[in-house]
Amino acid sequence: MNSIYKALFGSIFFWCVSASGYGQTTPQKHLPIIDVHVHAMKVTSQIGDLCPWFLSNMPGGDPNEKAPAFFSTECASPLKAAKSDQEFQDSLIETMNRLNMTIVASGDATIIRNWQKAAAPNRVIPSIGISNSEQMSVVAFTDSLSSGFYKVMGEVAPQYQGMSPSDMSLDAYFAAAEKLNIPVGIHMGTGGNGTINITNPKYRASMGNPLLLEDLLARHPKLKVWVMHAGYPMADEMIALMGANAYVYVDIAGMIWSYPLAEVNDYIKSLVQAGFGKRILYGTDLMIWPKLLETSIGVIENANYLSFDQKRDILFNNAVRFFRLDESKYR
Ligand SMILES: [Zn+2]
Repeated sequence: MNSIYKALFGSIFFWCVSASGYGQTTPQKHLPIIDVHVHAMKVTSQIGDLCPWFLSNMPGGDPNEKAPAFFSTECASPLKAAKSDQEFQDSLIETMNRLNMTIVASGDATIIRNWQKAAAPNRVIPSIGISNSEQMSVVAFTDSLSSGFYKVMGEVAPQYQGMSPSDMSLDAYFAAAEKLNIPVGIHMGTGGNGTINITNPKYRASMGNPLLLEDLLARHPKLKVWVMHAGYPMADEMIALMGANAYVYVDIAGMIWSYPLAEVNDYIKSLVQAGFGKRILYGTDLMIWPKLLETSIGVIENANYLSFDQKRDILFNNAVRFFRLDESKYR
């Protein structure tokens, strides 16, 4: 077998498990994938097409000139933004079925319910986000969690308010999640793509330091937390926090398709090399670009520094463990 056929055969073998008996022609099923970071939102014309890894060359510029574009479309084939909610839903569900995917989705409850109706059972896991106490009272929040619809708390993003995740104004919400055994995703990382002081002046990069979670974790020893965006680019602080707290996981959403690809791979590799391959969750931060799913999965698929088992951990096994899922429902 020459090397091209070997590589081809290897990748087909890698990504498909036979669901058929001998001699039958049942289509092969993709190995399962869980995307822990999807945003359910109404399609808006304010978000356009997008080039993956678009932050590979940050502009210089001047505050007295026009602000740089949030997303770049200067590449051979930008990912197209969906034009309507229905178009997005149809392509999302088609991709989920084809790639045997499950998603954790936060945002618009009506859209989450529509996705649940269209998707296979248990494949859309609703998540409720709150980032400051003005959004919802603790009682209303606890009621929402107790209703049984929401299984996850996230995306919690106090960083965009210039606030630490350990700020006491959020403590009662985290206490409710801890009591009800609800896993929590907290945005710790970058934001703004070069325009944050114009688009969101309360945001502070310094509030994305993973070590700011320490007080929260000390106050809530049973709280299960994952750091959304993996605390990028503070790998040392992330490693220190994960080393000290065995139940802290990270997701690689957002960064996986926005920063230079070599940088993304170096960051993931540094966490794996530090011993945390079982605590990395696959996620995208998907908004309205259907093809972003495959683009992002490809980063892990093509990562030559990861073994087959490490890829399966990141794409599926770690999320099953973290969210306490019944694995047999997702095969
Ligand atoms: Zn985020």
